[in-house]
Amino acid sequence: MKIHEYQGKEILRKFGVTTPRGIPCVTVDEAVKAAATLGEQGVKVWVVKAQIHAGGRGKGGGVKVAKTLEQVREYANQILGMQLVTHQTGPEGQKVRRLLIEEGADINQELYISLVTDRVTQHVALIASSEGGMDIEEVAHSHPEKIHTYDIDPTAGLTDAQADDASRKIGVPEGSIADARKQLQGLYAAYMATDASLAEINPLNVTKAGQVIALDAKFNFDPNALFRQPEIVAYRDLDEEDPAEIEASKFDLAYISLDGNIGCLVNGAGLAMATMDTIKLFGGEPANFLDVGGGATTEKVTEAFKIMLKNPNLKAILVNIFGGIMRCDVIAEGVIAASKAVSLKVPLVVRMKGTNEEIGKKLLAESGLPIISAESMEDAAKAVVAAAK
Ligand code: GDP
Ligand code: MN
Repeated sequence: MKIHEYQGKEILRKFGVTTPRGIPCVTVDEAVKAAATLGEQGVKVWVVKAQIHAGGRGKGGGVKVAKTLEQVREYANQILGMQLVTHQTGPEGQKVRRLLIEEGADINQELYISLVTDRVTQHVALIASSEGGMDIEEVAHSHPEKIHTYDIDPTAGLTDAQADDASRKIGVPEGSIADARKQLQGLYAAYMATDASLAEINPLNVTKAGQVIALDAKFNFDPNALFRQPEIVAYRDLDEEDPAEIEASKFDLAYISLDGNIGCLVNGAGLAMATMDTIKLFGGEPANFLDVGGGATTEKVTEAFKIMLKNPNLKAILVNIFGGIMRCDVIAEGVIAASKAVSLKVPLVVRMKGTNEEIGKKLLAESGLPIISAESMEDAAKAVVAAAK
């Protein structure tokens, strides 16, 4: 789960990380009022920042520095409601519904720090670089020597020695090392307390006065831990999420929208991944990832069909089921009921294996529906790719 920058900064402040003063808002008038309020506290330069669940806003025109309240109004007007296109939003962009009005910082050093769960070591890793501000992926690609990674022992946490070494490597001046340590350890405490899977500050700025301050904040959270994170769940902004994925989550379906035209309905995440791979192997493109889970009922399968069919790009559907605990006849009944309920108009390929396979196939064959039956994964993928053409 993702959140907005202003929410990330709220979390950071709770853990002692220094951030600029800022006020989130949803209208131009609110933005000007927020800037005036900050002005009363001595702020003379403001940053008007688009709040969307994607990075790269600066390059896309979603971050502007204003020197007067009139400029705040002008930029707020420009940014609010725009379709902000960044390298993370896709070509259609994301509509800006919120702004963060913030005190402007004098940028002196733009550093990069993040924490991420490393699946290989099964530890949290600290990643630090002197090359903050711009595309960190590009730095990692062309200057890997400028990326410093630290493995964090969960029993020790992020140690003073690690924090200080990282800070020195990325060019934090000696007089600011203690301050940087406080920011890094605060970030680590926030990460652990919130069950984050990514926490990134880019840029982390060292001001001319030597103060270390987080100018951006990006968090991702482990969805499996949300049950114990009510404060994080409260940050959820459904406007930023894919409507199909929200709908699917109501029915406990693991659904991810993709760019292709072949809908996939599969039980089990591993089989779903393998199914998508096989489709791609034979030249097709999946329209979605969908794991209906082990206990798929007729209702769930029907909802899954409805969600897939809302996609205007959809050209064909592949149902690939392994009947273990799940029986193939139950799935067949679900597929038949769902096809009838949604009056299916795209070709449907079904492959099922396992418990009660023969009964399931018989039900499909006798249903009178134009279902293409396939034996192997290869046959199924070839059939659905041909059907989608
Ligand atoms: P992102 O592009 O979505 O990662 O958004 P950021 O919050 O990182 O902002 C993009 C860029 O705007 C930063 O890399 C900075 O160069 C610039 N920026 C952000 N805050 C300030 C500020 O307070 N003052 C100045 N001068 N520039 C800022
Ligand atoms: Mn950034």
